[in-house]
Amino acid sequence: MQPILSTGIWMEKFAKKIILDHGSGGKSSKELIETLFLPFFDNPLLRRMDDSAVFEINGIKFAFSTDSYTVNPIIFPGGNIGSLAIHGTVNDLATQGAKPLYLSVGFILEEGFSGEILKEILEGMKKAAEEAHVLIITGDTKVVPRGQADKIFINTTGIGVVKKSHISGHNAQVGDLILINGSIGDHGMCILCLQEGLSLEMPLKSDTAPLNGLVEKILTITDNIHTMRDPTRGGVATTLNEIAYQSQVGIEIWEEALPFKKEVLGAGELLGIDPLYLANEGKMLIFIEKKEADKVLETMRNHSYGKEAAIIGEVKAEPKGKVWLKTRLGSKRLLDMLVGEALPRIC
Ligand code: MG
Repeated sequence: MQPILSTGIWMEKFAKKIILDHGSGGKSSKELIETLFLPFFDNPLLRRMDDSAVFEINGIKFAFSTDSYTVNPIIFPGGNIGSLAIHGTVNDLATQGAKPLYLSVGFILEEGFSGEILKEILEGMKKAAEEAHVLIITGDTKVVPRGQADKIFINTTGIGVVKKSHISGHNAQVGDLILINGSIGDHGMCILCLQEGLSLEMPLKSDTAPLNGLVEKILTITDNIHTMRDPTRGGVATTLNEIAYQSQVGIEIWEEALPFKKEVLGAGELLGIDPLYLANEGKMLIFIEKKEADKVLETMRNHSYGKEAAIIGEVKAEPKGKVWLKTRLGSKRLLDMLVGEALPRIC
């Protein structure tokens, strides 16, 4: 990781006001975190910058993660803001090879928000927590005056026990194959179409799902997973860039191997958006030693959340920190992190 910059650099180099792009999960978010937040809070655990922090108490390793949810609309095909808030934190714990155990939930509600809709959201959360085998054991509720928040925002924080602690964004190895458990960009495109009022012949559905069961299954058949990360905000392209940077490796993905739903590609063309930059909420990128990739792929395909799993690329020695897309025609295109494109309130 780069040396921590002083907060002075933030003030000089970047905007002095927060803009939507700072929350995109892309390049601007990274700059905000590295040049403003990290200088204040820097410590070795935080500096890992994985999806959850891993620490040890009395010989037991724990993973700890938090996330806030502001998705708009709050109810969408495939889920709602509540189920999304459970899945997101469960998946961030699973990325570190942890078994998620307990969650906290914080609600910020706007005065006047419908009790009926709140009940529907809570039902979604209950179901999601049951499926993921986690318990919500503490929480908080605040209500703000009308107009000072939009309906409902939720924060979830989770803790789990780490089974295999070598799994990290810093641990991708040259020669690793990269797997994904299914189609790319479904959640982001579904929300975007709702926000834009775009009605499609084949309506899109969010892929929001808890992936700890799938991860647990994979971890029972191999010790050679080096990296896992759920490609949420910023999408597959940004997440792969984060990993290439953390592990100081090159990453190549193959266009012909990428699983997309036809309707996602179609909507992407209409809206001029590359689904590789759209959030997924039920997908995991898995970096595995080449010799075990087929075995892991088969295990994924036998799981209900991995039926369309695919091997989509490979880790290379060079160019370090960069991600390339090998197109169907055989040419290569650099895939940068998400830059400048604000897609607010996708998750
Ligand atoms: Mg994540």
